[in-house]
Amino acid sequence: MAILTIIKDGDPTLRKHSRPVTEITPRIIRLIDDMRDTLKKSGGVGLAAVQVGVLRRVVLVEDAEGKVLELINPEIIAREGEQHELEGCLSVPDKWGITDRPEKVTVRALDREGKEFTVSGEGLTARCFCHELDHLEGILFSDHARMLTEEELEAMTEEE
Ligand code: ZN
Repeated sequence: MAILTIIKDGDPTLRKHSRPVTEITPRIIRLIDDMRDTLKKSGGVGLAAVQVGVLRRVVLVEDAEGKVLELINPEIIAREGEQHELEGCLSVPDKWGITDRPEKVTVRALDREGKEFTVSGEGLTARCFCHELDHLEGILFSDHARMLTEEELEAMTEEE
């Protein structure tokens, strides 16, 4: 188990496409375990392997119950409704923006045993699924969000 370094916006790796996992090797399991540690320490709710510099289609998403879902080769298979809420990213520190996302999404993925499963999420969890899957295509939320201004950020910090 190890805490990995989260790379930041400006690092060209974040712009690359992640490749599917073709075989769940001990190396992939170790990556997932290290990503779990890294996510826990970061205080975030989601992490894609590319954010720790590994171009593989592996993401973690913390669900509404606080359980960390492990998704290998995830795909969004259904979208419903819409939401326009605040989003941030561990790779885009201290910046926040309002994104357009579906209110509910269903994702199909493999677990660490290689078994296929589907999982649905609403609200923050749905945003998180979309956000992490975007990372696999080299997309950052700041590419399409309406980013908060300095004033808006300050107002938000004062509220806390
Ligand atoms: Zn992110």
